[in-house]
Amino acid sequence: MNWIVSFLTVGLAAALFFPAGSAGDAAASFGKTSTGMEVKLYFLRNKHGLEAAVTNFGATLVSLKTPDRHGKLADIVLGYDSVTGYEKGKAYFGGTIGRYGNRIAGGKFTLDGITYHLATNNGANHLHGGIQGFNKVIWQARPLSSQSLELTYTSKDGEEGYPGTLDVKVTYTLTDNDELRIDYEAALAPGKDTIVNLTNHSYFNLTGNPQNTILDHKLTLNASRFTPIDSGFIPTGELRPVSGTPFDFTTAAAIGARINQTDQQLKMGIGYDHNFVIDRANRKGLVKAAEVFEPSSGRVMDVYTTEPGIQFYSGNFLDGTEKGKGGQSYCHRSALCLETQHFPDSPNQPAFPSTTLKSGHRYTSTTVYGFSVR
Ligand code: BGC
Repeated sequence: MNWIVSFLTVGLAAALFFPAGSAGDAAASFGKTSTGMEVKLYFLRNKHGLEAAVTNFGATLVSLKTPDRHGKLADIVLGYDSVTGYEKGKAYFGGTIGRYGNRIAGGKFTLDGITYHLATNNGANHLHGGIQGFNKVIWQARPLSSQSLELTYTSKDGEEGYPGTLDVKVTYTLTDNDELRIDYEAALAPGKDTIVNLTNHSYFNLTGNPQNTILDHKLTLNASRFTPIDSGFIPTGELRPVSGTPFDFTTAAAIGARINQTDQQLKMGIGYDHNFVIDRANRKGLVKAAEVFEPSSGRVMDVYTTEPGIQFYSGNFLDGTEKGKGGQSYCHRSALCLETQHFPDSPNQPAFPSTTLKSGHRYTSTTVYGFSVR
């Protein structure tokens, strides 16, 4: 496992360059879990004053402060005030999602002739890694600098039903270009093949006030096709052109403009809750997947990813029962998610890009959220 060796080397270098106390700009207590485990909150700041807070519970992005067009900072992500909220919460606010982001039909898949059974935690299906996915476990955190935090977690063979022991690493970096960069890496122990699909489940409201809905946010998706779903939110296998449908965000459109139109797929998703196929034109590496513009604040968020897909979820299941930061209610469509990913249910859809990770191999993925104003 070369990357473990290299990350030990990097670790040694980091320890020399960032002696204790100077790296990661202070961690605060984030409370204790129900089993008495102490959890921390780490702060990353860049030279323009942007600030991200990340907890080692679930490798979760807890807050993200970016300026509006007048330079006023506000937190643009939903979340809770302490670990207790994240432990109990059902909405995956800001969490690192794994081992498999989004749904697997029937909670089962066959790999190398073996059928594996996963927890069915979303009706008949498996969702976001199961009952105790990566967003519900404690990670080891290691500040690399005042702008970068590395989190690692070992997911054991059989955890939540997945085969193979997987060493996972997620690195959050707040760059001086006003980007939040998330690098995902995973190394699979020799022995069994597995499936991997990691993402981050941040809920954004670019007004900085989640008492507003996101219906006036203007979205552009670099996607001329999407994957229609059945009544269980499982892709039918079709890659359907967005042209002429309410799913066409190839040019900027307000999220609310067509969300209530009579459309079979909007009905299935109870709004937008679909995977879009990113137009890559054979380009590998980071490509722009999405842009969100919020007219009242002027905030713009650009999303770049190495992944083939992006789940656009318009916060349809937020209903005010989840109480978040400062005790506030998060109401219907008060935030949106843009989850970079391989397509949902890929392990059961041979025509989709593969999510299989071979025994002894490595997985990598990167997503960059860039912030500016207009
Ligand atoms: C899914 C939604 C789900 C939400 C929160 C999204 O990724 O597509 O259907 O409700 O996560 O669990």
